[in-house]
Amino acid sequence: MNALKNTTQKSPTFYISHGHKPIAAHANGIYITANDGKRYLDGCSGAAVVQVGHSHPAVLAAMHEQIDQLQFSYRTQFENQPAIDLGYKIVAHMPPGLDRVFFVSGGSEAVESAMKLVRQYHFHRGEHERTIFISRLPSYHGSTLGALSLTGYQPLQKPFEGTYQLYPKIPSPTQYRIPEGHTAESHAIACANELETNILAIGAHRIAGFVVEPIGGASTGAEVPHNSYFPRIQAICKQYGIPLILDEVLCGVGRTGRWLAADYWQIDADVICLAKGLGAGYAPLAAIVAKDEMVETVLSNGGFMHGFTYAGNPLACAAGCAVLDVIDNEGLVENAAKQGEYLLAQLQQLSERFDWIGDVRGRGLLLAIEFADKASKTPLPNDWKVSQTITDMAYDEGLLVYPRKSLNGIAGDHILIAPPLIITHAQCDELLGLLTKALTTFDTHYQKIAQN
Ligand code: PMP
Repeated sequence: MNALKNTTQKSPTFYISHGHKPIAAHANGIYITANDGKRYLDGCSGAAVVQVGHSHPAVLAAMHEQIDQLQFSYRTQFENQPAIDLGYKIVAHMPPGLDRVFFVSGGSEAVESAMKLVRQYHFHRGEHERTIFISRLPSYHGSTLGALSLTGYQPLQKPFEGTYQLYPKIPSPTQYRIPEGHTAESHAIACANELETNILAIGAHRIAGFVVEPIGGASTGAEVPHNSYFPRIQAICKQYGIPLILDEVLCGVGRTGRWLAADYWQIDADVICLAKGLGAGYAPLAAIVAKDEMVETVLSNGGFMHGFTYAGNPLACAAGCAVLDVIDNEGLVENAAKQGEYLLAQLQQLSERFDWIGDVRGRGLLLAIEFADKASKTPLPNDWKVSQTITDMAYDEGLLVYPRKSLNGIAGDHILIAPPLIITHAQCDELLGLLTKALTTFDTHYQKIAQN
């Protein structure tokens, strides 16, 4: 075995930056253990992925059974039963009308596929000019160049300027920094109305679709829009005939205490993207779910000119079937709502102790803590690297949280708290205990840097 020998040895693998990470050895439930024996409470499900926890016996059994039967068959040569079964299970959880499923292997592929399905649909209907997608700022929709064109998060885009489309972005509403002269409701409506303003300026006949996360993930830090937002968005999309694409890659599959975050507002979407919690870390798995009319238009005109080799992989789909069964059988959506409510209340209480915590928000088990001056709501200086420092301090305590850097004054640094949906009340307390230690350590550090 070629384990890394020490912290200075370079690994052949590379991800986002330098920096030594321990090697994950094994995991169970909400805990993951490194090969040095240290155990971490997975307070963010990796990246909001591990919906049913690690090593769930029902998922492992389903995968073992499948791997003995069929590991791969190619989508143009065969259907496979786990993919069909998973398709039915997904559709059963969708709002009426969304009944066609296209499998891919990750969130960016799902977003990319949604864009191409919608575009091909317009093409076959003779609406060739519909090429412009509208999305929001801030937002995150993935790393591939199509998804990056939708993403409103400058640090990830800068090096690639010129290689992706400069699509228009409308502001994401916030319930935290409501502009002067607005209420939360009027601000949400004003943000939604920006969609109409853009449609009118560009021309509805040139708009391919509007892409939005119903509840923000890492980009906005678990922003829940005011209840007036989506009804207005929906009305605008219907009025101007603009397809509505929901990116539920992070907020879907029970994460927010409903199967879809869209269920909070009964949004009638044309396409929904699902990923992370669908494979729940057991296999690379994602999907788009679309309306039959859109899919049939594309299929009856020569087929969807798009697809990936690993689409609908039998082993991944068998894992997905087992994950969805566990979520249903163990009442994990309800548990996410219940434990999320408890965690949110406790985090809000905890935040009162620290004047550098500006906001605590979220829904279900998609929660965020935003770091900002409590009184003025001003984000803390970028070079303090607050979310990364707190994430590192939590790591030292044996707690995983997910950091996000500040967005140039639009929003402050934040961390996501998004544990597996199986978390118990006692484990929420354990998470809170570890987080309190990390925040207290940061407070000492803060008092020093704030004085200089
Ligand atoms: N959309 C959203 C909302 C996401 O949070 C992510 C991943 N963080 C993606 C798309 C891209 O997913 P992936 O990393 O699996 O490609």
